[in-house]
Amino acid sequence: MGPNVFIRDDDAHTLNKAFRFYFDAAMDRGLPIVYAVIPGKMDERFIRFLRRAKERTPRLLDIVQHGWIHANHSVRNGTKYEFGTGRSLNVQRDDIRQGQMKMSESFGDLCLPAFVPPYHGFDERTLRVINEEGFKVFSAGGRRPGSRKQFLQLPAEISFSRYDEGRTSVYKAADVLGLLAKGISRRAISGLLTHHADFKTSASRKELTRFFDFLAALKSKKEWRVVLFSDVLSGLSS
Ligand SMILES: [Zn+2]
Repeated sequence: MGPNVFIRDDDAHTLNKAFRFYFDAAMDRGLPIVYAVIPGKMDERFIRFLRRAKERTPRLLDIVQHGWIHANHSVRNGTKYEFGTGRSLNVQRDDIRQGQMKMSESFGDLCLPAFVPPYHGFDERTLRVINEEGFKVFSAGGRRPGSRKQFLQLPAEISFSRYDEGRTSVYKAADVLGLLAKGISRRAISGLLTHHADFKTSASRKELTRFFDFLAALKSKKEWRVVLFSDVLSGLSS
């Protein structure tokens, strides 16, 4: 069996053009995507749309929780987090629970108990809440050594977006593919983080569709497997 890759798309909460472009590009090619949605910012049309998509094509998307409202609570320059050192256990728990409640009233069983911390920021308290609230998957930007928990850690180590001195752009499709290929020999599952909002220009959209085309070709030749968090979880239990 070939190596496993997952693609996570973050900050989904409304049906704007960037989201629709991204969603359709992946769907048209049969590429499964893990959508990390912001519970406290979702609108009704978005919820309906995603619910229907998951009902129709359950193997092509996962719906997972991305924080609560994606607020930055860090007061220090250079760091951002919704959950992290400046926030007590209780406030972290309240926000995560609010998010869970919104997720379950919006999607019921169609969403997966998986948590993605905004800005990939978190501390030991966050992990404790994630554990206590029964999340099955935690996906941030890297593995945290030494914290053995009940949940599975599926970090997205590679990012399609690049950030230079406050400017956001995207890498070339070939570079992203190269980075993924490099990681694949070292890990059981490689994760790619994308932000649909960063594909605004026609040049960046071309890189996205080019990347999706590459990936769809590798997938159809069975060289790579593109998996969802739910695939990994059900693989573990079977
Ligand atoms: Zn985010």
